[in-house]
Amino acid sequence: MKNLYLILLLGIFSCISSPNLDKLIDAKQIEQDILVLASDSLQGRAPLSVGEQKTLAYLEERMIGIGLDPAFGDSYLQEVPLAEITSAAPKQIEFSIAGGRLSMADGEDYTLWSPLLKDEFTLNQSELVFAGFGIDAPEYSWNDFEGINLAGKTVVVLVNDPGFHTGDTDLFNGNAMTFYGRWPYKFDVANRFGAAGCIIVHEEAAAGYPWSVVDRSGNNTEYYLNNEALTTNVCGANGWITREAASNLFEFCGLNYEEMKRKATVPGFKPIPMGAKFSATIRNTWIESSSYNVGGVIKGSERPEEALVYTAHWDHLGIGVPVDGDSIYNGASDNAAAIAWMLAIADGFTKLGSAPERSILFLSPTAEEAGLIGSQHYVNNPVFEHSKTAACFNSDVILFLGRFKDVTVTGLGHSELDEYLAEEAAKQGRYIAEDPNPENGMFFRSDQLPFLRVGVPALFAKGYTHQVEMGKEETLKAVEKYWRVTYHKPSDHYIPEEHSLEGLVEDTKLFFRLGHKLANESYFPKWSKTSEFYVER
Ligand SMILES: [Zn+2]
Repeated sequence: MKNLYLILLLGIFSCISSPNLDKLIDAKQIEQDILVLASDSLQGRAPLSVGEQKTLAYLEERMIGIGLDPAFGDSYLQEVPLAEITSAAPKQIEFSIAGGRLSMADGEDYTLWSPLLKDEFTLNQSELVFAGFGIDAPEYSWNDFEGINLAGKTVVVLVNDPGFHTGDTDLFNGNAMTFYGRWPYKFDVANRFGAAGCIIVHEEAAAGYPWSVVDRSGNNTEYYLNNEALTTNVCGANGWITREAASNLFEFCGLNYEEMKRKATVPGFKPIPMGAKFSATIRNTWIESSSYNVGGVIKGSERPEEALVYTAHWDHLGIGVPVDGDSIYNGASDNAAAIAWMLAIADGFTKLGSAPERSILFLSPTAEEAGLIGSQHYVNNPVFEHSKTAACFNSDVILFLGRFKDVTVTGLGHSELDEYLAEEAAKQGRYIAEDPNPENGMFFRSDQLPFLRVGVPALFAKGYTHQVEMGKEETLKAVEKYWRVTYHKPSDHYIPEEHSLEGLVEDTKLFFRLGHKLANESYFPKWSKTSEFYVER
């Protein structure tokens, strides 16, 4: 009798457990958080501004109200040291071979900067080496730096990866960009192999953006995570050259650019000394300062050393160039809405009344827009060991279009988290979809990236391509319009009369259920063997 009673009781609990989770998501509060975080009074939430002070205060107050413990000792704040480096590149640079010189003009042909805390960085007669795509990928048995000593030398590399350039789906990930295709990877790996300079050839289709996006000749100021790498790294000259300038440079060296590019896509490619020397001096000035990540935790009841991490960056672009008389870049969709998503899930967990088996960290990183700086700093200084962190769920850039049939996974196929998501999405009557533009490499352009790079599987997924009433075609038009008209513009507002948060609320319920499942089991989702981030788990 006692057993029967228990079975009945368990039955009742399992039947109602899912709807109960949904009821704990507070849609009104989601809207309220967005309205506050995207209000003009927060001035576009730029790091180091008054907007930062107000944003941090609000997030801390909300985390306390929700009942989260401070993530960083007795503090909700994690200091993130920043360096704002302004590089003065030479107006002209010169390449020389025996009996010849080729000069190029800043902004027109190349753009150059130094990512180091050094007043001056000089390349003096630095030997040029064509290093293909600048990729070292053991899982593809691919190393564009094989057998060459790069000390003091400058590598010239191609953007994207061999898969994109050949369209061969067996080569890297075909048309979809891999992390090896992204410029931060290329500068990093050139430094790792000891090069003194790294220049990427810009091609618009392969990069995914025009020359104007990479050209820094007008404003060469960048934020960096201020750690020892800024003084110990050896690669002190980073830059891009246009495709046309590259073509001239190769010709000047007696090489054909298109032919070299073709060679670079063939497995077994070896770096090619170009026979030319490169000289340039870059002068830097910088300002050092600190911004802050905000984090709260729920301590796990059974395995508190194991964790899940939810992330949503708090920073946006602040006050900038006015558009239609509006100079405040409010960042409602990017990323006030994702912060609201994260806080609502935290609130759901604390309302459950009992802690999950694993700990959960709710992290709002700073300086995402400046290059994932806050999340990188967290990963360098984590609260939970990476090998004990089961997953990272990140959110960024939310559409206010209403409910979606799809859950679009940016970076589909990297880990078993896809299956976890598909199972929960099906309970909402939704299906998993691929990113419609995988060539843009969006998976590597938000806060999940630093986690991926240390072996923590991550999901970056949301309703995106199939709004319920609009259908796919109209939805994709609306998405295209968003990127063109709203993204990173002062018009990134949330307007209750015009916008719908129903899709966001549904995504919030989805990621609450997903986190609830994963926080109450002991399994660590595994990487796909084909992922460039694969590690044994
Ligand atoms: Zn964002």
